[in-house]
Amino acid sequence: MSLAAGYPMIAIPGPSPLPERVLRAAHRVSPDIYGTDLAEMNVRVMGQLKRLAGTEAHLAPYIGNGHSAWEASAANMFHRGDHALVITSGHFGRSWAEQVSQMGVIVETLDCGSLPPDPGVLAERLAVDHDHVIKAVMVCQTDTASACMADIPALRDAMGDHPALLVVDAIASLGCAPLMMDDWGVDVLISASQKGLMCPPGAAFVWFSDKAAMRGRTDLTTPYWDWHLRANASPDALWRYWGGTPPVQLIFALDEALRMILDEEGLIATWARHAALARAVWAAGDAWGVGDTGIRLSVADPGARAASVTAMKLPGAEALRAWTAEQCGVTLGVGLGAEDPANALRVGHMGHCNAAMILGVLGAMQAGMVALDIPHGPGALDAAARVIAEPA
Ligand SMILES: *Cc1c(COP(=O)(O)O)cnc(C)c1O
Repeated sequence: MSLAAGYPMIAIPGPSPLPERVLRAAHRVSPDIYGTDLAEMNVRVMGQLKRLAGTEAHLAPYIGNGHSAWEASAANMFHRGDHALVITSGHFGRSWAEQVSQMGVIVETLDCGSLPPDPGVLAERLAVDHDHVIKAVMVCQTDTASACMADIPALRDAMGDHPALLVVDAIASLGCAPLMMDDWGVDVLISASQKGLMCPPGAAFVWFSDKAAMRGRTDLTTPYWDWHLRANASPDALWRYWGGTPPVQLIFALDEALRMILDEEGLIATWARHAALARAVWAAGDAWGVGDTGIRLSVADPGARAASVTAMKLPGAEALRAWTAEQCGVTLGVGLGAEDPANALRVGHMGHCNAAMILGVLGAMQAGMVALDIPHGPGALDAAARVIAEPA
């Protein structure tokens, strides 16, 4: 017998659960794309996206996923043959480095394995770059594969007065964990619609500082990816913002989702909710790991764990994922980038998630461990419940 009928739970690190309100907002026929209503909504969404990122900088939107924002930003920051330094803490940082290097940028990586970026190592590397060859330091705030979290202000401090741009991929963290682009001195910020922003995939965003804008156009800048054209579009020129037909239904979705985050819940409360839900997942993971079970959270230091996704080693993870999907309607994330992916998984807790959803996901996982005879320590659901009961 399966108990999976009912509301499906998607606990993967993106795309994240879609609020009904966001779906309803998007569910409409396209209005006149040359009319003033949509243009006004678009301008409002751009303003909200700047609020979300804590910035008054420039913003270029793209129809595309996170990978498109990687390419868009690189096409504006670099000449072919420029040097970039990518600090990697997992699969996503490494893929980003690879993509940018295929564009003709000379990429050096500071590989931290699955550990969070080390500001000391960055400072040492930049200290010997006497000629300021490195044009950009690039880092994922959350590497969604290893589920670790970078300390962006510490990395900015480590850069001292080196003139490289600080480029942050916040695809898996914006709207989930604190990020203040201007206060933190981030020059280029990258995100996408389908994770913390609670929208369908299909829109990507690049915010960039005056300092980044001063690079002008490079020999990698093609008209479609040119961020100046989009960021400087006149308010009624939707085709300019989006490089063609705007993603109409996504603009409605974004308008609703950003209202929910910024004007209703409030960004600080949204961050606090993510932090509490994350701690509930960690508490369960730690309890399951007691004894010789082999279950272990991938990031040992709680201060270096992501607020939006948790990765763990879990013997039998592949079978457990299949069981929770078939028996409980709960989809867990694959062990992307893990040493042994069949025995690793990730739990997404980003965007439109509440305590009941997370307790439900953890309960389904434990039921699966019982059903499949996967050894696990006791008290995980109690431990998670205690975090929910006393979130601060
Ligand atoms: C999801 C993700 C990406 C890739 O985004 P796509 O939309 O799948 O192209 C890149 N970086 C990070 C940190 C991510 O979490």
